Amino acid sequence: MTDCLFCKIIRGEIPSTKVYENEDVLAFRDINPQAPEHILIIPKIHINRVENLSDNQSEMVGKLVIAAKNIARHLGIHNGYRLVFNNGPQAGQEVEHIHLHLLAGRKFAWPPG
Ligand code: 5GP
Repeated sequence: MTDCLFCKIIRGEIPSTKVYENEDVLAFRDINPQAPEHILIIPKIHINRVENLSDNQSEMVGKLVIAAKNIARHLGIHNGYRLVFNNGPQAGQEVEHIHLHLLAGRKFAWPPG
């Protein structure tokens, strides 16, 4: 999608600090990290929200989670991490391109704020 911020990052039109990439997925450091490690893992196809996923896109979602697991291992994260999809404004979604937050390096509260 032309105007999507994360699509621009995928196309290299906006710089990012890439930590992982394969043919389906890109992962890069969050510009405003909320933890010592804060990585965004995104599909290379544009889907705006989790709520608009098709039933046949489970494999793509699985690839985001598997990428997160592999990135955590690669970064040497052994004390746990949090994976978050924000969906919609009340959940705090600001960028309308599905992204999985990988957060680590500090203790997280539950329930989340
Ligand atoms: P959301 O609030 O939509 O779940 O998360 C969007 C995330 O994207 C936020 O954590 C925000 O800091 C991050 N972000 C917004 N703009 C940019 C950018 O231009 N580059 C990078 N690397 N992260 C961004």
